[in-house]
Amino acid sequence: MSRNETPDAQPLSLLGVSRSYGPVAALDGISLQVGMGEVVCLLGPSGCGKSTLLRVIGGVERADGGTMELGGRPIFGPHLFVEPEDRSIGFMFQDYALFPHLTVAQNVAFGLRGSGKAAIASRSTEVLEVAGVAHLSERYPHMLSGGEQQRVALARALAPRPAILLMDEPFSNLDQGLRDTVRAETLRLLRSLGTTTIIVTHDPQEALAAGDRLVLLRDGRVVADGPPRHLYQNPPHLYAARFLGPGNELSGRVLAGAVETPLGRFAAPTLGEGKGARAFFRPQALSICSVESGAEAQVVDRAFQGESERLSLRLIGCPDLMTVDVAPDAAPNVGSHVGLRVDPSSVRVFADDDPTKF
Ligand code: ADP
Ligand code: MG
Repeated sequence: MSRNETPDAQPLSLLGVSRSYGPVAALDGISLQVGMGEVVCLLGPSGCGKSTLLRVIGGVERADGGTMELGGRPIFGPHLFVEPEDRSIGFMFQDYALFPHLTVAQNVAFGLRGSGKAAIASRSTEVLEVAGVAHLSERYPHMLSGGEQQRVALARALAPRPAILLMDEPFSNLDQGLRDTVRAETLRLLRSLGTTTIIVTHDPQEALAAGDRLVLLRDGRVVADGPPRHLYQNPPHLYAARFLGPGNELSGRVLAGAVETPLGRFAAPTLGEGKGARAFFRPQALSICSVESGAEAQVVDRAFQGESERLSLRLIGCPDLMTVDVAPDAAPNVGSHVGLRVDPSSVRVFADDDPTKF
């Protein structure tokens, strides 16, 4: 199969999509555009609406309001509901949902019912080969490992050449060791086929590693949307900064356009004079040095992490604990005093009373 494997793939467009369950607004006006061939990671804490959004796009759940288009064709609107089987959407569930009484080949063929026998056979063989599971075609699901089941489920979802593939926590049932490998293989396959994909995850590291684009949900709303690296380095608010990975925070007041902290003054040109503010930076932005050339801090804890050692330090005269990663053989002992300095270009300043309340 070539990159044109999914010639019908077109962008997905959602405008103001909502869905409530009683008083709970699971989706609260979601607008989202997905470009052709894009791999979008939908990230957010448990209960924020990720699965509901996939189900609503797939048509297995009805939205209450909003509009949706797939490939330029309206699939949902005020007086429109296109049935799931007519949407050209591939769905891969968290538990794979393989039919236990069907073989691998029959599972894949199931998604192709309606086509001619010969076409089903040739497409099944093709997609099983692409997914690397052709040798398992006569087995039943219980005879497969978790990683193999995942690949069969992927093959089944891709078989009808869907315009978009929706995957709900597709790697969360795999052991950590296997997860990284299967994820990398899956993404390589999707990219080589040019398949437009939305992957749901609650794991920030997975979302940072997997997608071309990261969409962060909170309480049924999109609160950040952009390339993973950019969002990690330039989070739009403290909520995104904290959710995407570990960080250090120092509080202070804005004076003459900057916030004063024990690690230096950081520009806050958009924040009002006298406002409470918070400087945020990742552990990687912090480094240890001699006491004379940085802010004095005492090591309170060390955690060996294999390739690095994570230190917790208390800045002298300041209640906040700082986290920094150092090479294991360079780690100072607990109780010792060191200097700390931060790369100012990596510091982001947020208002304490951010109007977005993140
Ligand atoms: P996520 O996948 O991000 O963990 P969900 O989309 O499953 O979140 O759920 C979002 C919110 O909607 C939660 O508060 C959940 O309890 C609620 N919810 C989801 N499905 C139903 C349902 N069928 N009936 C009632 N409440 C539901
Ligand atoms: Mg879910």
